[in-house]
Amino acid sequence: MTIVPERLVACAGLTDLFYGPEDGRTEAERSEREAQCKQVCAMCPVVLECLERALVLKQPYGVWGGMTEQERREFRAHLKDEGYGDDIPESMELWASVHSYFARKDTIVHPAKPARTG
Ligand code: SF4
Repeated sequence: MTIVPERLVACAGLTDLFYGPEDGRTEAERSEREAQCKQVCAMCPVVLECLERALVLKQPYGVWGGMTEQERREFRAHLKDEGYGDDIPESMELWASVHSYFARKDTIVHPAKPARTG
């Protein structure tokens, strides 16, 4: 697992956005916050390393590596479908799996989501 230097991360200084309390937020507010976090992650130079770490550590809450907690849960099931069992693939294999997971989604923003053409 790669250790990510904090100075490299796009979310540095965005503590309230990424880790602020969810208490009292409506579902729409939560979705908006997640979308903003994912836009930050999309510009992050360590997005893949961050996602790998979140998956290995089973981060239960928040947006990490461009995925919400629900997406990470779904993605773990996706990895099982791809034959990885409980293992987390590394590097380009992980990227390929993320790509195939998000390719099925229409409304999700993620750096691995392929652009629609035509
Ligand atoms: S991928 Fe997102 S959560 Fe992870 S370090 Fe980068 S900006 Fe922060």
